Amino acid sequence: MKELSASQPQIVGRFAPSPTGPLHVGSLVAALGSYLMAKSAGGNWLLRMEDLDQPRVIPGIADDMLSTLDLLGFEWDGEVVYQSRRSEYYLAAAGALLERGLAYGCGCTRSEIAQIASAPHQDITVYPGICRNGLAPGKVERALRVKVCDEVITFEDGIMGRYTQQLTSACGDFVIQRADGPFAYHLAVVVDDAAAGVNQVVRGSDLLSSTPRQMYLQRIFEYTVPVYYHLPLVTGEGGAKLSKRDNAVSLKAGRDLEKEGGTLLLAALRFLGQQPPSELTGASPREILQWALPSFDPTAVPSNAGPFEQPHSQK
Ligand code: GLU
Repeated sequence: MKELSASQPQIVGRFAPSPTGPLHVGSLVAALGSYLMAKSAGGNWLLRMEDLDQPRVIPGIADDMLSTLDLLGFEWDGEVVYQSRRSEYYLAAAGALLERGLAYGCGCTRSEIAQIASAPHQDITVYPGICRNGLAPGKVERALRVKVCDEVITFEDGIMGRYTQQLTSACGDFVIQRADGPFAYHLAVVVDDAAAGVNQVVRGSDLLSSTPRQMYLQRIFEYTVPVYYHLPLVTGEGGAKLSKRDNAVSLKAGRDLEKEGGTLLLAALRFLGQQPPSELTGASPREILQWALPSFDPTAVPSNAGPFEQPHSQK
């Protein structure tokens, strides 16, 4: 295990799944990557349930995730945090932005925005700032947006390298509280990471393009900016994104994790560029993590995803 010098702060990493479906191999890679990155550096690894989007949350899944992580040998530090219990903090953060004139109420519907917006990115519609200077007469406030500026945000991702984005052209003023009530992911993640002292964020590269928005908020609130590592994504057949809601790819589907968890962890380690020795074949999850903690090489994590050699059930 690497020694931390007295001048370096303790690493605090986290895994923050959304309990909208059971853990799948993609979440396993994010859990393992964040666990090893923090723990192999002598740090803490926190667990947060991102359950803000209540209509999408599936009852019982958060507990199922915890038992799955436990069966796979993961040990988290401290109490599990549930975003659904932290609204007062998001409300305070949104209030501070409003007070400083950095946020505003927006009355646009999706279709209104789509009609006017240009969309240089496939998945993000750039908000054209319609309500930035006040709601037009007759318009009712639906969502809260934060004002972005022209500046280009650049950061060095620990795996993906340099990433640059200009918020005005990538997304425009973005939503921090949705029309249907809940606070948006970007606000909650920034508030929660700061509150927990998280200084290392390891997660799937589907969130790489969200990072500049989060860094923008961190800067406004004068929070410490974590170090970011975006992991390659596990894809399904033909490169399609795995969906958490797809039960077919649940870690538990057709598999006895007590017996086969070790095989899954070995596959996830290989996906992360690590080289577990063949003697670990058949070992328990805890034995495998015991090998992985001192042996983990963060520089071996590839930026391009190889195949996830998903072991099949013995049944
Ligand atoms: N809750 C997000 C997800 O499950 C991850 C958020 C994060 O790691 O910042 O995709």
